Amino acid sequence: MSVQVARHAGFCMGVRRAVLEAMKAADTEKDIATIGELVHNPEVIRKLSEIGIHAVTSPSEVPGRTVVIRSHGVGPDVYRELDTLGLKTIDLTCPYVQKLHTIVARYSETGRTVILVGSADHPEVVGTLGWCKGRFYTVHDLAQAEALPEMDEALAASQTTVPHEEWEAILPVLRRKVRQLTAEDTICTATVLRQKEARTLAASVDAMLVVGGLDSSNTRRLYETCKSICPRTLLVERAADIPPGFADIHSESIGITAGASTPDWSLKEVVTRMTDK
Ligand code: SF4
Repeated sequence: MSVQVARHAGFCMGVRRAVLEAMKAADTEKDIATIGELVHNPEVIRKLSEIGIHAVTSPSEVPGRTVVIRSHGVGPDVYRELDTLGLKTIDLTCPYVQKLHTIVARYSETGRTVILVGSADHPEVVGTLGWCKGRFYTVHDLAQAEALPEMDEALAASQTTVPHEEWEAILPVLRRKVRQLTAEDTICTATVLRQKEARTLAASVDAMLVVGGLDSSNTRRLYETCKSICPRTLLVERAADIPPGFADIHSESIGITAGASTPDWSLKEVVTRMTDK
């Protein structure tokens, strides 16, 4: 019947900017290092490594003189270390993540507690917690929210890529736990639009394809959202991962979306595979 591609699919503003700026820097600089993989997508990582951009886990491992801070951002300790090492730093922290850092740092200035809704091991969360000047907690689901101690006051903020419903579901529990709760919805616009559109699309098609790196947490979240609405949802990194007979485009409708770290060429490849019949 039809193949529908989400309008808000693939690289978000923050990731696109980070990839383009890092590539631009590689025109004039050698041995550029990124603190952690620039994007959670193996195809992009391979292309970046071909032009001399490699990931390291800490500033002390940077082989050359130039280092890129990816869109996920880092904590102040990493900036200090880069400064001490005298490295040239290209800071490509996404403006939405920077805003989150500022909110958290300002609120916790006097040692007040921060509760961050997100995945404790996600690089954006790890970096953000570095800006907290007092006690902090991370909360990933309702059970973790219920397990928090009672508090007099705290700030609740969210990882920028948390699905909006998750934040909305957790917030009432936090309001019960904290007498004076300041809530800051810091989910970025790109995430809200992508999730919203994916939900509408998943509800209107027979099968869904979510394109993106298997290690990308925002792609996984997108997949889980679509799967909860359209049981025939598949997560693929590339067109070759689509099993033969996944869907019959002559009799079925197929929706396609992609995570924020998925490059245009991967999305195009999947769309071409589904439409070239
Ligand atoms: Fe920035 Fe949002 Fe993209 Fe994260 S998902 S890099 S916060 S635009």
